[in-house]
Amino acid sequence: MLPNELNDLYKEVILDHYKNPRNSSEIIEPLHKARGYNPFCGDEVNLQLNVDNNQVIQEVGFQGHGCAISQATASLMTESIKGKSIQEALAIREEFRKMMQGEQSNLELLQDLEILEGVRNFPVRIKCSLLSWSTLEDSLS
Ligand code: ZN
Repeated sequence: MLPNELNDLYKEVILDHYKNPRNSSEIIEPLHKARGYNPFCGDEVNLQLNVDNNQVIQEVGFQGHGCAISQATASLMTESIKGKSIQEALAIREEFRKMMQGEQSNLELLQDLEILEGVRNFPVRIKCSLLSWSTLEDSLS
């Protein structure tokens, strides 16, 4: 299910997020929402966000289905953007994109998301791991 070449510890974390997704309850009537679909793999991510008056993300919810990488990334993403401003969340998205494309990225901003770095060696899977981030961007535009 996951590429064998991924580090075993990272695989374990990815599978844990896949099986026990964080922030998976749906937010009813959110301020921001979007649906993302990756036709290459059949992955789907539905995302809801509530921000406060300072544009800080107070609540985030996602529901979806698809491969382990797409769903684990969505789960990790919700953890990393909760409590951050929209601007900070989009900065994390940009660092994540850079990491996936093999560019120098800010690991301090990425934190736990770094475990997905190995995914970049599997070009087909990069789309899976970028799905939740493009959905985030769609939800805010
Ligand atoms: Zn996928």
